[in-house]
Amino acid sequence: MKKTIRDIPLEGKKILLRCDYNVTINGNVILDDTKITASLETIKYLMDNNCKIIILSHLGKVKTEDDKINNSLEIVSKKLSELLTRSILFSHETRGVLLEEKINAMRPQDILLVENTRYEDVPNNLESSCDEELSKYWASLADIFVNDAFGTIHRAHASNYGVSKYLPSVIGFLVEKELKNLNVLIENPSHPFTVIMGGAKIADKIPLIEAIIPKCDYLLLTGGIANTFLKALKFNIGFSLYDKETIPLITKLMLQYKEKLMLPLDVVVGNKYDPNYASIKGIKDICDNDVIYDIGPETLRKYKHTINVSELIFVNGTMGKYEDLKFRNGTKETYQMLAKCPANVIIGGGDSLAAIHTLGFNNNFSFLSTGGGATLDYIANPKLKSLENIEEI
Ligand code: ADP
Ligand code: MG
Repeated sequence: MKKTIRDIPLEGKKILLRCDYNVTINGNVILDDTKITASLETIKYLMDNNCKIIILSHLGKVKTEDDKINNSLEIVSKKLSELLTRSILFSHETRGVLLEEKINAMRPQDILLVENTRYEDVPNNLESSCDEELSKYWASLADIFVNDAFGTIHRAHASNYGVSKYLPSVIGFLVEKELKNLNVLIENPSHPFTVIMGGAKIADKIPLIEAIIPKCDYLLLTGGIANTFLKALKFNIGFSLYDKETIPLITKLMLQYKEKLMLPLDVVVGNKYDPNYASIKGIKDICDNDVIYDIGPETLRKYKHTINVSELIFVNGTMGKYEDLKFRNGTKETYQMLAKCPANVIIGGGDSLAAIHTLGFNNNFSFLSTGGGATLDYIANPKLKSLENIEEI
């Protein structure tokens, strides 16, 4: 396990804390403050240790001067202040004399949020390309670096990887909780170990599938991923979503791991030309104008059996286009089965968590990983560069 804030003397130190405050904003409103709330445990611990806390985070993509207007972190400093019921200092500058003056005036337990690190991407991409000088500069502002930004753990940028080269570095409580829970899938998983894959981002999920398939006992396929496997098997899938580029690799995986793979027996299709159409069909009966949007009842019965005999289950991606009520049943029923089964159930993926929230299953699973792409990348390759300079204990 990586060294955490519990494993280093912190009393009175200046801390550079990397958080993930990449929240969705509409006008003047933060639509979901989960990421801000998730950072509070670490912040409070640092305050209890009388630290001066300098927080770095990115927000959105900043490619031009204009992008800065809609991607300022100032709105987050207000939310943070509300949640902690105390005032938060904010620096409009990401470097320079004004920032340094603010830091020099900080007292123990003060919190300073620095403007979006990606402002440094205009014009020379300094944050995202992990510029050496910028990394050294940010590191020079503090005594210790704490990485608690799980959502960006798969990126090696100046504010998370760069600074860790120049400061004693540890992880915060949020990253610790994520790694601990995800390591259950990576190091000696209990068996039978079942993986359920679905969703739309097919190419993004291939590295995860390749990494996890040798370790699991069953891989249940749903969503756009299942469509791609069906296409590789030369079924007619009409106008369904699939990924042509991944077919050769999927064909290879199917040959190598045939006995582990489970594919839909039936599906719910829509019609490309009729938005009101929905019909359950066997996978051999798909017509040219059909679009597969969900798994069918026979498939759910087959998958239920595997789910109920599993000890450990990892789920990523929704089983169908759950946003449309006509195609929600597969996702809803699967979550229902997972909520009732005896296995340790771990779920990851941005849309999967949104679906769990929409369908009211928030408190039914062992662990919901908040990292989105970071979760998938960590499982596929646990030796992440951003954590390279943080010692194992
Ligand atoms: P996650 O964010 O959980 O990793 P993805 O981003 O890969 O998941 O995919 C989630 C999206 O996949 C949902 O918006 C859902 O509508 C879509 N989806 C699932 N199955 C299908 C399908 N058969 N056809 C089209 N879209 C699908
Ligand atoms: Mg997604």
